[in-house]
Amino acid sequence: MKVIDLRSDTVTKPTQQMKQVMLEAEVGDDVFGEDLVTNKFQAKMATLFGMEAGLYVPSGTMSNQLALKVLTQPSNEVLIESKGHILQYETGGASSLSSVQLFPLQGYSGKLSSEQISPAVRGVYDWEPETKVVCIEHSTNKGGGTVYSLDELRSIKQECERHNLYVHVDGARIWNALVATGQKPHDIGQIADTLSICFSKGLGAPVGSMLLSSTNNIAKARRFRKMWGGGMRQIGLLTAAADYAVEHHWPKLALDHEHAKTFAQTIAETSAFQIDLDSVQTNIVLFDTGDRTAIEVLEIFGQHGIKMVPFGPSTVRATFHFQIEEADVNRLLEVTRHCFNT
Ligand SMILES: *Cc1c(COP(=O)(O)O)cnc(C)c1O
Repeated sequence: MKVIDLRSDTVTKPTQQMKQVMLEAEVGDDVFGEDLVTNKFQAKMATLFGMEAGLYVPSGTMSNQLALKVLTQPSNEVLIESKGHILQYETGGASSLSSVQLFPLQGYSGKLSSEQISPAVRGVYDWEPETKVVCIEHSTNKGGGTVYSLDELRSIKQECERHNLYVHVDGARIWNALVATGQKPHDIGQIADTLSICFSKGLGAPVGSMLLSSTNNIAKARRFRKMWGGGMRQIGLLTAAADYAVEHHWPKLALDHEHAKTFAQTIAETSAFQIDLDSVQTNIVLFDTGDRTAIEVLEIFGQHGIKMVPFGPSTVRATFHFQIEEADVNRLLEVTRHCFNT
């Protein structure tokens, strides 16, 4: 029985074609700036999003942390929605690496609204921290894969400009967000001072993220990447895979979104569970496990070869990706109906 692994969209494995591209990549030493595949790919991504420059990094965490490093001074404050990845899942890095404090705002489904920014800005009095950055996730992770409309993004940008704040977009799943909304990469480049994009989530590359920003910020980030041990050598192997993923897997994400919606619909029709169908906007499904704990529910799914992750005492997350196929989805629906209808 094939294991249906919905724990994350990071569990995909490189395809045969992707491995072929990796084998054929002509590599050089990237610390010397001589890995031409990487140089070309960084420029290509920067152009795609309408930013000046890009820096390939090992992880989305490093990319986010580098963004805060180049945008802030120690003691600054960074506004973020309370479910934000930078706050929840980056081992307290912002306080350690950049000596800044994160101020969580309670939004909706992991999203901030522009009205929340103005009242939260501080720095007038000398006992206040100085607010410098607003971080937003597009799409959200702990927020359940929700996306911002272009209007929402633009009004956040407007508020930030009014208060001289930088906007950092954590676009670990920007590819999903673009597919779901029809927004153009340039739209995001216009609102972001720094933008982090990932290739190892739904796109299915084995490794890597990229920070996009101004030439100046990227030059600074490059120094800190080296300081933090992220200077890499013949990474054309990896950037070739990432490039392949953008070209060949980006267009496939719409299907993942369909699968997520189909599953969410079945969850809604299942007596044991509750779900907010409006929040299912991309490849992530969060649902409430009702009278059972998340762990109990996961054990039952597990007995049928289906893996998901707990996202709270009674919350489960399922994440769809291109290596979940039609037959897998059908089995998932059958198991859900069979095991959880009273
Ligand atoms: C996964 C993720 C990251 C971090 O990526 P890693 O490569 O695992 O460090 C950052 N932000 C969001 C929203 C994510 O989902």
